[in-house]
Amino acid sequence: MKRECCHKAYIGIGSNLGRRKLNIQTALSLLTRENTVKLLKTSSFYETKPVGGPKQPGFLNAAAIVRTELSPKQLLSLLKDIEKRLGRNFNSVRWGPRPIDLDILFYDKRVMRTKDLTVPHPQVTERLFVLRPLAQIAPRYKHPNFKKTVKKLLDELKLRF
Ligand code: ADP
Ligand code: MG
Repeated sequence: MKRECCHKAYIGIGSNLGRRKLNIQTALSLLTRENTVKLLKTSSFYETKPVGGPKQPGFLNAAAIVRTELSPKQLLSLLKDIEKRLGRNFNSVRWGPRPIDLDILFYDKRVMRTKDLTVPHPQVTERLFVLRPLAQIAPRYKHPNFKKTVKKLLDELKLRF
């Protein structure tokens, strides 16, 4: 990376097809290959049951914090490229099984909404499989809309289940 930069992004990762752990590891290494993204922290892998969509195999979920000079839009486009390279079929059903799913959960303290990209990720507060790994690596990050930490959001969500 040219300069010590810039933005901090929080990425949600999931896989429920093929060699799930290898898919996640490959996605992370592709993510940092270009030198525009530097991996700061990765969570453990969490075994989770699928939520919504058709009947499908269980997921392995993780989260990562990266430092990047890419804009949210550029980062999303890199994530989509990696999903494609790992064989994700974008014509299959929504919320269906996938070798890799990469989401931007947070980007600095940014709040934005375009046709292709909403940050913070709209479902972040409703998904245990996102909040669990995230709370491991960023418990004190405060959700810019809800003004609650990730740890607090996770504790509150756990009470609802
Ligand atoms: P999901 O991640 O909800 O299971 P998909 O991965 O199929 O579903 O994402 C569907 C679309 O969501 C993507 O094409 C992308 O443009 C859009 N999207 C909106 N906000 C985000 C975000 N923060 N991170 C990733 N994708 C997003
Ligand atoms: Mg996604």
